Amino acid sequence: MIFTVAIDGPAAAGKGTISRAVAERFGFAHLDTGALYRAVGVKGGDPVAAARGLSAADLARDDLRSLEAGQAASRVAVIPEVRAALLAFQRDFARREGGAVLDGRDIGTVICPEAEVKLFVTASAEVRARRRWLELGGERAEKSLASVLAEVEERDRRDRDRSEAPLRPAADAILLDTGALTAKAAIEEAGRLVLVALRAAGHMRDGMAGD
Ligand code: C5P
Repeated sequence: MIFTVAIDGPAAAGKGTISRAVAERFGFAHLDTGALYRAVGVKGGDPVAAARGLSAADLARDDLRSLEAGQAASRVAVIPEVRAALLAFQRDFARREGGAVLDGRDIGTVICPEAEVKLFVTASAEVRARRRWLELGGERAEKSLASVLAEVEERDRRDRDRSEAPLRPAADAILLDTGALTAKAAIEEAGRLVLVALRAAGHMRDGMAGD
């Protein structure tokens, strides 16, 4: 079975949490495509060479989730040659046998426009910044909520305004605003939408997580 779930949206909207849960529920492989750009961003040197030579060790670094790595990722992500170098790997992953969930910014628009399910996960910049800040320790964090918000807004701007594969929902994407939802409710809604698409494609098999 070839079946792709594309989950796009801005930073800290909940894409990762939803993608991991959907992949686990349906037994699909999961690719966090932001990690590819983060790995290129933190590697230093020529970003195009880094993207062409990305290794498993680069992707296993433990500093990929930092705010700095996110900023570095969004800076190298504007370079067309970097995006081109990462394209085939992502496309092959999306159409691998057994089903795949990919989360990122351009999965439904560029990497896999034929994806069977496209979700665009959003929330206001304030909600997303607060989530990131709480992840960093909240009141105990080194950064203030205001500075995390400024970073989130800067990254949004860079991702939306770039000419190559800008962040935007595909015309046929379903919008999922997680601002007023618990993680559990957002995961359930995404799962329900995947289930509808699986049934429509005639792919529901015995033993697949139904309800
Ligand atoms: O999703 P995450 O926050 O890990 O992404 C880090 C950065 O990588 C994003 O801000 C964006 O600039 C870039 N990115 C991208 N295309 C993707 C995934 C991530 O341009 N498919």
